[in-house]
Amino acid sequence: MGALEMDIRFLQGVGPKRAALLGSELEIHTVGDLIRLYPFRYIDRSTIHPIASVRPDMAYVQILAAVTEVRLTGGGRMKRLSVIVEDGSGQMEIIFFKGLKWIAEKLEKGRTFIFFGKASLYNGRINMVHPEVDAAPAPGSSQVSAAGNLTGVYTSTEKLKNAGITGKVMNRLMDAALGLALPEIQESLPDYLIREKGLVPLRFALRQIHFPSSQDSLAKATARLKFEELFYLQLALLKQKYVRSRNENGIPMPRVGEAFHKCYDNLPFGLTGAQKRVIKEIRGDMTGGRQMNRLLQGDVGSGKTMVAVLTALIAVGNGFQACIMAPTEVLARQHFDNVSRYLGPTGVNAALLTGSTGSAARREIHAGLLDGSVGIIIGTHALLEDDVKFRALGLAIIDEQHRFGVEQRSRLWSKGAGGRVPHVLVMTATPIPRTLAMTLYGDLDVSVIDEMPPGRKPVKTIQASEGKRQAVYKFMKDQIALGRQAFVVYPLIFESEKLDLQNLEKGYEDITEAFPFPPYKVAIVHGKQSNEEKNFNMAAFVAGRADILVSTTVIEVGVDVPNASVMVIESAERFGLSQLHQLRGRVGRGSDAAFCILMKGIKVSKESQKRIDLMCSTEDGFEMAEADMKMRGPGDLEGTQQSGLPIALNIASLAHDGMILSEARSCAADILDKDPDLSSAENAVLLKELRKDKYNVRDYSRIS
Ligand code: ADP
Ligand code: MG
Repeated sequence: MGALEMDIRFLQGVGPKRAALLGSELEIHTVGDLIRLYPFRYIDRSTIHPIASVRPDMAYVQILAAVTEVRLTGGGRMKRLSVIVEDGSGQMEIIFFKGLKWIAEKLEKGRTFIFFGKASLYNGRINMVHPEVDAAPAPGSSQVSAAGNLTGVYTSTEKLKNAGITGKVMNRLMDAALGLALPEIQESLPDYLIREKGLVPLRFALRQIHFPSSQDSLAKATARLKFEELFYLQLALLKQKYVRSRNENGIPMPRVGEAFHKCYDNLPFGLTGAQKRVIKEIRGDMTGGRQMNRLLQGDVGSGKTMVAVLTALIAVGNGFQACIMAPTEVLARQHFDNVSRYLGPTGVNAALLTGSTGSAARREIHAGLLDGSVGIIIGTHALLEDDVKFRALGLAIIDEQHRFGVEQRSRLWSKGAGGRVPHVLVMTATPIPRTLAMTLYGDLDVSVIDEMPPGRKPVKTIQASEGKRQAVYKFMKDQIALGRQAFVVYPLIFESEKLDLQNLEKGYEDITEAFPFPPYKVAIVHGKQSNEEKNFNMAAFVAGRADILVSTTVIEVGVDVPNASVMVIESAERFGLSQLHQLRGRVGRGSDAAFCILMKGIKVSKESQKRIDLMCSTEDGFEMAEADMKMRGPGDLEGTQQSGLPIALNIASLAHDGMILSEARSCAADILDKDPDLSSAENAVLLKELRKDKYNVRDYSRIS
């Protein structure tokens, strides 16, 4: 067995107890695991701070000071060692709670040491708790610390620290691990790639990432390791995509068909350039002989429905049926109304199937699906039921993917014509940053509608605090007087449904008080209502029978009320950016000016304020998604149905390494183009790497 596979327990300085902790806390079981734990930052130990300049908000500081007093205080568990040190610029108290005897002996009065740690403020004075202590450098020596200048800092936990695995110990373990393992490390990228990209060799990178000899070599090591990580991620994803496109035949749909043309020629408007491009991409898939597996991204209002209709008509034109599935009844009905309007000139028959479809109508629809007289079926989860059978289902369109589970989707796939998986188009209005889409959906085809239909009015977004509430109400009244409608949305606080409801009910009371009936009509929708009640209230607002809709975020997805011109978001600081953006997208759909008012609570964190400011400064969903990812990291992006990535990234960041990612992806694509099976000798190393467990990319981005 090689050093890389060696149990971490046997590494010098570890032992069974620490090994168990390294395993449970950091998933480090072998020496090989250890050397792949990279520092998350580096401390520049070349600088000595005068005590007088030390502030509690500095990260880590290093002082060079003489011990003037050593005092043991307290008793029992409160026992501690207080050491006063002095460097000419000032004095500082240094406190130890553990290892008191040993430290007291070491810190001889009058001697000078280097203390390295985090300064904190206690009783109005700056002190340092449990710093690392090093001997002072010999006079005239240029190196201030025996540890070298750039010192890696590793993730740690309370338990690890308690077991004595301090930063310093970690550095020592790492040194020992590298000593054993480096000679065994084999280059993991092909030679030609290393040359082409000007990368440093793996061994050099691994040594330098832990013990950089300079900023420059640290940068080279980092670049190499990031590239490698993103490259293999993309290679794994793209390889899957290649394999699938070769192996899975799609239901053949060679024609565009008459229905498509009849609809297209009678549209009340011209398609945007982006819609045209996307339809071309979809046509290419469906006529190309392989099964379509495409994600359609487009901001709220970008015109995805139109694309869905034309796509469905391609299927119909080839003798197949299409289904469009929406997450809620209201949305399904809305789709049905829109789709039916476009279908007028085509003669294609559409039907709506939801939970509230009566049994007689249901039987009729079932029959129509079986005999093929229903060409396009639109509905909710009701479409998944076993007794929904098709004559020839060729296409499934799913709106707002993240509302469906994998299992539900596969029930739909099993209904495909001739037992084949239908073509699949998933539509989402959640803008996902490009780098994230490339990774989450790396093996899917992605189409983006990045252009809004003409004539859309921008939504004016403003923020207001409690003091402005009456002015906001006055403004809403003015809009209602103009015949417009308003949304008022309350956040969900997940910890407590009870509180949510109280919050909402209180808001509803406030609103009905400020907007009394008559003349004002206020509807309320929330998660605790029955579906019937929800649909009833929602429908009242959609039809214009209510002026104001008070709700929790249930309206987030899709509802189209062109007459609504005001979106008031209460406690806006509690919402995530993409949610705020989605909510804002509910207005500005008619031709009138629209407004989004972000009401702020009393306590607004810096982060929340940043989100609110960003909302006020841009309407571009992609720009916001990028900014959101930079603020919070890709793992936390809401709306992306998967919060995790296909593989855990160890060093690269989707938020910050977009350039490297693009390069890595195109590099991986070039290689697969030339050598799809990676069977050439020079690519042998690629295959070997891909076989490793971590690149066994989970297939959960796959939508069919
Ligand atoms: P999405 O589903 O992407 O949020 P919709 O498909 O509901 O957007 O379209 C929003 C509105 O824009 C609808 O009223 C639709 O009729 C209209 N629309 C779509 N495409 C165009 C276009 N090319 N030109 C003008 N209006 C369009
Ligand atoms: Mg839509």
